[in-house]
Amino acid sequence: MRCPFCDSSQSSVIDKRAVKSSGEIRRRRECLKCHKRYTTYERISAIELLVIKKDGRKERFSKEKLRSGIIKALEKRQASEKIDEIVSKIEKKLWDKGRKEIESRFIGQAVLSELKKIDKVAYLRFASVYRTFQNPGDFRKELEHLT
Ligand SMILES: [Zn+2]
Repeated sequence: MRCPFCDSSQSSVIDKRAVKSSGEIRRRRECLKCHKRYTTYERISAIELLVIKKDGRKERFSKEKLRSGIIKALEKRQASEKIDEIVSKIEKKLWDKGRKEIESRFIGQAVLSELKKIDKVAYLRFASVYRTFQNPGDFRKELEHLT
């Protein structure tokens, strides 16, 4: 990223905002050399986003993996036509974070909060996969809460 006024590569970010679902991030920068301000548009591609798993290992974010988890949860449910909508909503949430690494837990929770809004059964199915193995008590509480 170079300053359009003096070509210096030293700048500080003064404001960061995610725009559009495309994953484009708008940043206001201030050049550390000439102190002029300018705006950059940067793109974080899906390939660059790393997911940090529970055991600390990292893997590349996979939209297909996300989609297949949601498809499984919504199997034979009426809301299944909403799969694409949920996938892009979650992707947008990830981009809005503007980070290059994200905990798998964050993705799981994003999926849960979307499913909860549209289909309680799908929500529970997904929750059982994502949560029970970790904490069976939580899942029971969740069930009692919904029924
Ligand atoms: Zn400059």
